[in-house]
Amino acid sequence: NKFVYSFNEGSKDMRDLLGGKGANLAEMTKIGLPVPFGFTVTTEACKKYYSDGKQIDQTVVEEIKIKLVELENVMGKKFGDPKDPLLVSVRSGAPISMPGMMDTILNLGLNDETVIALAKLTDNERFAYDSYRRFIQMFGDVVLEVPMKEFNKIFDGQKAKVGAEFDVDLGTEDLKTIIVGYKKLVKDTLGRDFPQDPQEQLMEAITAVFRSWGNDRAILYRKLNDISESLGTAVNVQSMVFGNKGNDSGTGVAFTRSPVNGERSIYGEFLVNAQGEDVVAGIRTPKPIHEMAESFPEAYKNFEHIADVLEKHYTDMQDMEFTVENSKLFMLQTRNAKRTAEAAVNVAVDMVNEGLIDKKTAVLRIEPDFVEHLLHPRFDSDDEDKATPIAKGLAASPGAAFGKICFQAKDATELADKGEKAILVRQETSPEDLAGMVVAQGILTAHGGVTSHAAVVARGMGKCCVAGCSAVAIDEDAKVMTVNGKKYKEGEFISLNGTNGNVYEGMLKLVPPDISGNFNKIMSWADEIRTMKVRTNADTPKDLKQALVFGAEGVGLCRTEHMFFNEERIPAIREMIIAKDEKSRRVALAKLLPFQKGDFKEMYLAVGDRPMTVRLLDPPLHEFLPKTKEDMQQLAESSGVPYDVLVAEAESLKEFNPMLGHRGCRLAVTYPEIAEMQTEAIITAAIEASAELGKDIVPEIMIPLVGEKKELMNVKATVVATAEKCMEKADKKLEYMVGTMIEIPRAALTADEIAEEAEFFSFGTNDLTQMTFGLSRDDTAELIRGYVDKGIYDHDPFKSIDRDGVGKLMKLATELGKKTRPNIHLGICGEHGGDPKSIEFCNSIGLNYVSCSPYRVPVARLAAAQAAI
Ligand code: ADP
Ligand code: MG
Ligand code: MG
Repeated sequence: NKFVYSFNEGSKDMRDLLGGKGANLAEMTKIGLPVPFGFTVTTEACKKYYSDGKQIDQTVVEEIKIKLVELENVMGKKFGDPKDPLLVSVRSGAPISMPGMMDTILNLGLNDETVIALAKLTDNERFAYDSYRRFIQMFGDVVLEVPMKEFNKIFDGQKAKVGAEFDVDLGTEDLKTIIVGYKKLVKDTLGRDFPQDPQEQLMEAITAVFRSWGNDRAILYRKLNDISESLGTAVNVQSMVFGNKGNDSGTGVAFTRSPVNGERSIYGEFLVNAQGEDVVAGIRTPKPIHEMAESFPEAYKNFEHIADVLEKHYTDMQDMEFTVENSKLFMLQTRNAKRTAEAAVNVAVDMVNEGLIDKKTAVLRIEPDFVEHLLHPRFDSDDEDKATPIAKGLAASPGAAFGKICFQAKDATELADKGEKAILVRQETSPEDLAGMVVAQGILTAHGGVTSHAAVVARGMGKCCVAGCSAVAIDEDAKVMTVNGKKYKEGEFISLNGTNGNVYEGMLKLVPPDISGNFNKIMSWADEIRTMKVRTNADTPKDLKQALVFGAEGVGLCRTEHMFFNEERIPAIREMIIAKDEKSRRVALAKLLPFQKGDFKEMYLAVGDRPMTVRLLDPPLHEFLPKTKEDMQQLAESSGVPYDVLVAEAESLKEFNPMLGHRGCRLAVTYPEIAEMQTEAIITAAIEASAELGKDIVPEIMIPLVGEKKELMNVKATVVATAEKCMEKADKKLEYMVGTMIEIPRAALTADEIAEEAEFFSFGTNDLTQMTFGLSRDDTAELIRGYVDKGIYDHDPFKSIDRDGVGKLMKLATELGKKTRPNIHLGICGEHGGDPKSIEFCNSIGLNYVSCSPYRVPVARLAAAQAAI
């Protein structure tokens, strides 16, 4: 049981143990790339740290010491050596990349003595003291937890005192003064000296990395990204190289292709004479990577070559970090790059064309949830052409948005809570802004490049972002931003185009996206691969048409009740509900018939020769009654029923537990005439639409909320008798199917009996989850969040199918159903039908199709393909 690995002992396949960063540093070492040597303390050591009650184990400490000696030998330098000291970075790295979440410490090993040695060795005193002051600052912040702003005060104070405009304007003596100030700050804050012993520094730093796995930002990030708490982080200890040694040194980050749109050209930034986080921190605005060819021609050529080697080696687009020390290139990190949905699609298609990957791999490369980002609106191009941008920044994350200006994350959250749209405007963002970024429509920053925190996070969220918009001057206290002399106050509207970097005043018109080209190509590959069909849940021709554009292959759920909620129609349904007897109920239903028939016909014409399942009336009737006194009075007038009688009637329809009350097929059992009217509407609409389409429709009639075979038989008898009568009358025979939803646990348990009557099953997983858990789907969001936080549920069962319980019922129902009726048609129409994890499960139990809301259709097509691979 080994807790520490040297870089030459690992590989990219050891990610769980070494973390992503460590595994890739090992891999780069293995394939002979220039990586400063070091070692990785494993995630197992981190887990042990936590299971031991936040104590670092002695065997781990011993192993670190051994590896440190090995590192000293390889480097020919000694830790704390007053002549030629070894300096290292201490870098966190979890198995799943968590950008910006945990902090890195550079230049560890410096102290009052070694700093002098470093100055002599490099013949560069300024460089040495600059490194030392950076180290104290980082270590002080991350390990000792002295607030960074206190360090900044001292630093900025010195700058102001000597009139230095930039950091580089500070001289050696200034840096020495700053160091004295920093050390005093540590002593004053903690009552102890800044640790001078490098061994002690190292152990404290490693412990701090483990500790940082449990900080609030990291926890929030994991929660947002569904990353398991149990993974732990590894710690990489790596010998330092220096990008701040002068004008032939520098540091940068780059992608092998554009993470914004996938364009095949190195994309990134670098800074001359700078170290570490300077590039990503958004403090100094870096230069585009291609200019590196001028600054460091040799190193750049080498970098281009390595980028190519890495991409081919990993057969995926890479995100790399590097440093140039005295013109020599060192690789500090590589990983598969995060990218926008647009870039993901373009890169995947390009790589297939380049012969780097096959179609299946291309399909697997696209995260299904991401695809939805591509379906979101952009600005109407006429509208945008007419508008004059007030400023232009970097196109950091594509898409378009408008909203009210907010300068603080919490203001964005407040606006969003009120249902309003917010644009978060920040100097630069940091992980503390995350909650605000989640709810904002878009993000605008004044500083920072395309790899700044704001840009990276926004791309991950599929949210539009304009970064580094230097024309924007923000006054956070006054809550205004000034652009070219004009002031924009908090709460005023602006529009952002993250695809071209433009910022506009007011609101521009949003239009639907373009989903042709490579998007279509990936989707068609997915369609070739998947075995499940993808239908949509649609109640209106408008939703249906949208879903068909997105590739829906039919309708899995057409809810008829939504057709009733309409000013013209609601009086008729209310009349039906309050009818005293069957006769007057039939009179009211007759008024509804033409509306329903018209709607169904329109739906049939839109769906064409694809299948469509129509569900009979489902909700409790009380839902349709007036909610206000005025409406009640109006109903009394129009129906001629006295107001008091009406109120009493409404009262009698009230149920304590309406979701478990008089609804679903129970309505049709009590009032067969409702099912008769609906069946007549469906069948006659299908007959007429068949004639117009020139092709026979096969209506699928779905009876909801069945829990007992005999109630299905009862309603089915009504449906069949009516259907036969309609067809006879029209003198036209259509094939049709009658099926049911499986949404009551008893239906799942007796699915063999139910299948004797039902020709198809559609899993209504919203109700099935509600009833299996005994959790109200309308009232328990908060409670479920609490349960997830406490680890009682590992996820929200309404978002993703609970395989152990609900899933078990589904599996049982499919098996029982097939036993009775081997070719029974099986689908799902709950919200889960658009959730990739649930889709994978549906595939595994052999459903024929999933059905989901229109915007989830492409997500489902892709997820179904991935499930089939
Ligand atoms: P993050 O996970 O936040 O990217 P890293 O561990 O990659 O943090 O460190 C951030 C930056 O610090 C790196 O991009 C690199 O510029 C610098 N850095 C880390 N280790 C070294 C090193 N050994 N020598 C020089 N610079 C380093
Ligand atoms: Mg990094
Ligand atoms: Mg239901």
